Amino acid sequence: MKYKDFIKEIKSKNKASSFYMVVNVTAGLVTVLLAVWMISLFRQGEAAKEHLIGICAAICICQILKAVFYAMGIWKAHYAAYHSLADIRMDIVNHMKKLPIRFFQKKKTGDLSNIINHDVEQVEIFLAHAQPEIFISILMVLSISAALFIIDCRTGLAMFIPIPVIIVYQNLCTRFQSKIMNTYVKSTKEMNEDLVEYIGTMPAIKAYSDEEKRTSLVLQHMKDYIKWVKNMMLSISCPQSIGQLIMEIGIVLVVIVGSSRMVNGDLPVTSFILCIVLANLCITSVMKYMSFHHANIVLGSSAASIYTVMSETPKEEYPALLNLRSGDVELRNVSFSYDNRDEALHDVSLTFRENTVNALVGSSGSGKSTIANLIMGFWKTGKGTVSIGGQDIARMNSRDLSTLVSIVQQESFLFNTTIAENIRIGKKNATIDEVIAVAKMARIHDMVQALPDGYNTIVGEGGAKLSGGEKQRISIARIMLKNSPIIILDEATAAIDPHNEYLIQEAISNLSRGKTVISIAHHLRTIVNADQIAVMDDGKVAAAGTHHELVQNCPLYTDMVRAQDEVDNWEIKERIL
Ligand code: ADP
Repeated sequence: MKYKDFIKEIKSKNKASSFYMVVNVTAGLVTVLLAVWMISLFRQGEAAKEHLIGICAAICICQILKAVFYAMGIWKAHYAAYHSLADIRMDIVNHMKKLPIRFFQKKKTGDLSNIINHDVEQVEIFLAHAQPEIFISILMVLSISAALFIIDCRTGLAMFIPIPVIIVYQNLCTRFQSKIMNTYVKSTKEMNEDLVEYIGTMPAIKAYSDEEKRTSLVLQHMKDYIKWVKNMMLSISCPQSIGQLIMEIGIVLVVIVGSSRMVNGDLPVTSFILCIVLANLCITSVMKYMSFHHANIVLGSSAASIYTVMSETPKEEYPALLNLRSGDVELRNVSFSYDNRDEALHDVSLTFRENTVNALVGSSGSGKSTIANLIMGFWKTGKGTVSIGGQDIARMNSRDLSTLVSIVQQESFLFNTTIAENIRIGKKNATIDEVIAVAKMARIHDMVQALPDGYNTIVGEGGAKLSGGEKQRISIARIMLKNSPIIILDEATAAIDPHNEYLIQEAISNLSRGKTVISIAHHLRTIVNADQIAVMDDGKVAAAGTHHELVQNCPLYTDMVRAQDEVDNWEIKERIL
């Protein structure tokens, strides 16, 4: 969908309230006409009691209708707005679900949460508040102009003179307001993003005693925000005041033209009074339009941000396989680069045989995690193919791929719910016995049982109430329930203390039994028994084989083993000392 159609669709969500607003405006105008008619009857001495009562009753009915239809119109507008708010948020979330991981790596978390919260709220503000008022104002100006022309063409024309001036003026103001409004929206977002990052990174800020610098940065963004709020207010109020002055000229013209025509006997007094009343109503409507016009500009800016997500091309989905089966994982002539920059992998060909233990080793940045990311389907290969059991994963349904492959990463993420629910993510309908069974195998059961609420303990945001090793073992239990035939271990124990590392190694060996394992290892001693070790060097496979084969044939691997021995010896000496 093009951006123009997207914004049109947003604005069209509020059609239902228009009918009520038309009745509201008509009832208001009829009230004015009835009042003037009453004055005219008085003047002509024809004001019979029944006439007056009838007109007063009609005025009362019109006022009630006006109030009722306004309330219904506003209610409809709010109803449409809140539904649109929910719909747009759901559309964004559903769309994001289909987007590839690279989209999320490009966008900041604060940026996306701003779009879902702040920008979508602007749509609600526009639909519920601004659009009905803008619609009423335009309707009022049009019908009042028509009424003035019908009452007296020349007086109507006098009122009409400032209108083209105000249209040109409003257009000029819109350009200048758009600039200020966009900067204001940008600074609001920057401030929100900063606050999200500031709160989220508070432990690191405190650890490095960086509070002064970080706080002053956040405060600076807040000061910028206040500056732009002031500018925005000025950009709305100044044009409004000047607009009011321009429109007042219309009233002066109406009085000059109308009074001279009245003196000449061309315009009855009541019509003259009516013209002045209508001209005043016209000014009020134009001013109302100007005061809500800025919401249109803010909507444009917010809709553009929402569109950046909605226009992102989703990952192509393929039908689920009827006979989903595992098999060898094969990378054939794979080359890949993040964002078309330097290649992270060059012409990599590797086969991980079914039910074997494989390891990827190599210096930092040599491409090990990139291989894991490609097998998980997080990124698409540039050249070459990644296949499982002969099936190209680029043409595989994402649920199928997720059923076949699981990953244990250095950092495990837990949801802010109970431990049992966090484990159940691996299998929605798992019984508590199944949960306990995998927790035992993942070496987390004893620890969970010692907690006052056991498996019903809420883990806190991101698992904040648990240690890194405990989170890791809970996520291993979750993967055990999922029971994928292929397990990727991406430096799973790199950030763990020795006691937890021992427990996690046990958990991992339980998880890996009878599976195809691809392990990115930082300790070579943990992978010496692997069926295959692939040595990565600057995005290429330097060699692949067993530990013994590599020790004999691969100088790079021998160097790595020697370096590891030195580190281990150094660690032992340090501990003895
Ligand atoms: P390893 O796991 O062996 O440490 P990686 O596979 O993480 O290495 O990285 C390989 C190369 O790709 C490195 O040069 C790294 O800087 C780059 N890289 C990794 N992830 C990204 C990313 N998300 N965006 C851009 N470049 C990346």
